[in-house]
Amino acid sequence: MPEAPIFERLALIGVGLIGSSIARAARADGAVRTIAATARSAATRARVRELGIADEVVDSNAEAAKGADCIIVCVPVGACGAVAAEIGAAIKPGAIVSDVGSVKGAVIRDMAPHVPKHAHLVPAHPVAGTEHSGPDAGFAELFENRWCILTPPKDADPKAVAKLAAFWQRLGANVETMDAAHHDLVLAITSHLPHLIAYNIVGTAADLETGTRSEVIKFSAGGFRDFTRIAASDPTMWRDVFLNNKEAVLEMLGRFNEDLAALTRAIRTGDGQTLFDRFTRTRAIRRSIIEVGQETAEPDFGRRRGGHEPHAPLPRPYASD
Ligand code: NAP
Repeated sequence: MPEAPIFERLALIGVGLIGSSIARAARADGAVRTIAATARSAATRARVRELGIADEVVDSNAEAAKGADCIIVCVPVGACGAVAAEIGAAIKPGAIVSDVGSVKGAVIRDMAPHVPKHAHLVPAHPVAGTEHSGPDAGFAELFENRWCILTPPKDADPKAVAKLAAFWQRLGANVETMDAAHHDLVLAITSHLPHLIAYNIVGTAADLETGTRSEVIKFSAGGFRDFTRIAASDPTMWRDVFLNNKEAVLEMLGRFNEDLAALTRAIRTGDGQTLFDRFTRTRAIRRSIIEVGQETAEPDFGRRRGGHEPHAPLPRPYASD
């Protein structure tokens, strides 16, 4: 027998990669009874209507929030505060207000003042994504076996936290709860810094003189190609991440620069042992990530396995026909 829906009415504010994946997964699983969605532009709202992934597509954030027992704000981190201010008066008593932002401290700082006392703010970050954006990029399986980190404030209602955790589990995610500051530090090294490095290395290659640059593209080896995939990620989203997780990123960047200086010295002085030891340690890290099931050993990292292509046709019940 299918499980009962967790929420009667889910409001999704922002229907890009993450919002549209939540809509598709929640529908596929029956985790909610109805979905009301909205996005900033009329073009995105029209596309969401065409895709048929929400029951109602409305024109304003407040209209979407009205009557919802769960509101998930799926917009770039820098826009979360303004969205919360717009929907504040429309939030129904007892509703859960959440988000999916990649930074948590700044989102809580910006959203909490606008969430009424009668509602529950439970911020969340599904640690799942691709370099694609927009409503066409989402897919129902995005969160399967991925972590979703909840960062409830200390005085959060445990029932609201448990309900949101159950929702994410229904979408296939493993749920972990942690303090927002700790989340921001961990993600600074595991996600934010790798993106900064990718943007930088691809940018450096792009700045090379024309002849060399075309050879970089022609002979791009696996290493460089992997960086270009990450560096193709949405510029607005990532600008907001760095502006809003400044301290943690600068802390990790400081450590990174020290280690890079040590490797630079090892190359200059011909210290092969230091290089070998470092590379042996890092190889072990990759093996442990594969062992815990967060990555596959396939050469393309399993990204092309069936149905996970971001632009693959939607499964029948959600196709626009
Ligand atoms: P996306 O594909 O670019 O979608 C963003 C959506 O937000 C669009 O529908 C956009 O509408 C809408 N939007 C922007 N400002 C708005 C506003 N003021 N009011 C209402 N809607 C607004 O972005 P995404 O990748 O889904 O990322 C959304 C959030 O998820 C970000 O906070 C990001 O940090 C987080 N996240 C992303 C990933 C990832 O890998 N991408 C992973 C985990 C978490 P228009 O289309 O009309 O502009």
